[in-house]
Amino acid sequence: MPCVFCSIMSGDLSARWVARAPDAVAFLPFPTRALAPGHTLVVPREHSVGVHDATPAAFTAAG
Ligand SMILES: [Zn+2]
Repeated sequence: MPCVFCSIMSGDLSARWVARAPDAVAFLPFPTRALAPGHTLVVPREHSVGVHDATPAAFTAAG
């Protein structure tokens, strides 16, 4: 099963973009998945399975 974040970044799934940078992106999740109005996800472009799998570069890209 493909990663939902990578699917959004590749355009296979739609998103409402807040920002797109070379190393990270920010977007609003689908309205049914938003935890609150304006809930924004900031995701590094580098794929990782979870926080413990992410590289130091991924943390600085999204920070
Ligand atoms: Zn991914």
